[in-house]
Amino acid sequence: RQRELEELRDLPAETTDGVRVSLKANIGLLSDIRVALANGAEGVGLYRTEFPFMTRKTFPSRAEQQDLYVKILEGFAGLPVNIRTLDIGGDKGLPYFTYPKEDNPFMGWRSIRVSLDQRDIFRDQLAGILLASPHGKASLMFPMVSGVDEIRTVKEILADVKADLERTGKPFDRSIRTGIMVELPAAVQIADLLAREVDYLSIGTNDLIQYTLAADRNNPKVKQYYDAYHPAILHSIKRVADAGRAAGKPVSLCGEMAAEPINALLLLGLGITDFSLSAPYIPLVKQAIRKTSLASAREMAMTVLTMESSRDIRAYLAERQAELE
Ligand code: PEP
Ligand code: MG
Repeated sequence: RQRELEELRDLPAETTDGVRVSLKANIGLLSDIRVALANGAEGVGLYRTEFPFMTRKTFPSRAEQQDLYVKILEGFAGLPVNIRTLDIGGDKGLPYFTYPKEDNPFMGWRSIRVSLDQRDIFRDQLAGILLASPHGKASLMFPMVSGVDEIRTVKEILADVKADLERTGKPFDRSIRTGIMVELPAAVQIADLLAREVDYLSIGTNDLIQYTLAADRNNPKVKQYYDAYHPAILHSIKRVADAGRAAGKPVSLCGEMAAEPINALLLLGLGITDFSLSAPYIPLVKQAIRKTSLASAREMAMTVLTMESSRDIRAYLAERQAELE
């Protein structure tokens, strides 16, 4: 079994009817590079930059960040690396950053909201990423975006940081691709408008499930409500995939939902062909993709979209899963 999975590493994630799927890794620390490559990741769909920030005692300077991002980009030797700006707050704090006490931290001052309020921190991070960009294939992703104004402000800041760097004469990728995470229900509703503002969208199901169903992703008391198979979630994903296609912008998915092989097939059927997940799950997902056709994944997804309840969807997917084995 282990051998079989090792052999899979160098094979493409391709369906039986020839559709190429991309399987990338979610990473946080330098040690994840090795794990990602060992499992055959085709790059990084989500680099959670808050992780290296969390393991330090002070804010990393622009130069320190540049060094770190260079190491990551070089580690992936030209494979795409999608670098997400700081996503702190919620359950992720920094020991050296005073954070207000909030009654509802997940609905509070977190993620891009912090970056937009703490411009120096944000600008340092953007500059660090841009300065590292000649060392590989970097793209830039913004988390927790809720609306068009926010992303326009982000783009203004990015343009300003680029203009500053331009004056220093240091090399950087002037046309670095930028994307946003679609992880709020609001972003799903206006995915068509957001798609016009950026080069790509990436669905973050971890938060999307939490916010759509009002169920804290870390609270075991409401675990039953945190449900990837709730029809609202599946229709949301379909809607974003369709909006991206209509706008001619790629849509990927980087929530852990894709780590379950049957889910990956369902998501493929909903229109997603680019996944990012914890690297150790990549081989099993790849194996499932190589055994399935896009046509049957679509048929499965279309059936699921007609279903009214999570219970029915789970029962149906369990049957389909059994066919896979
Ligand atoms: C998500 O919300 O789905 C996601 C991938 O980001 P994170 O888990 O870091 O919030
Ligand atoms: Mg998230």
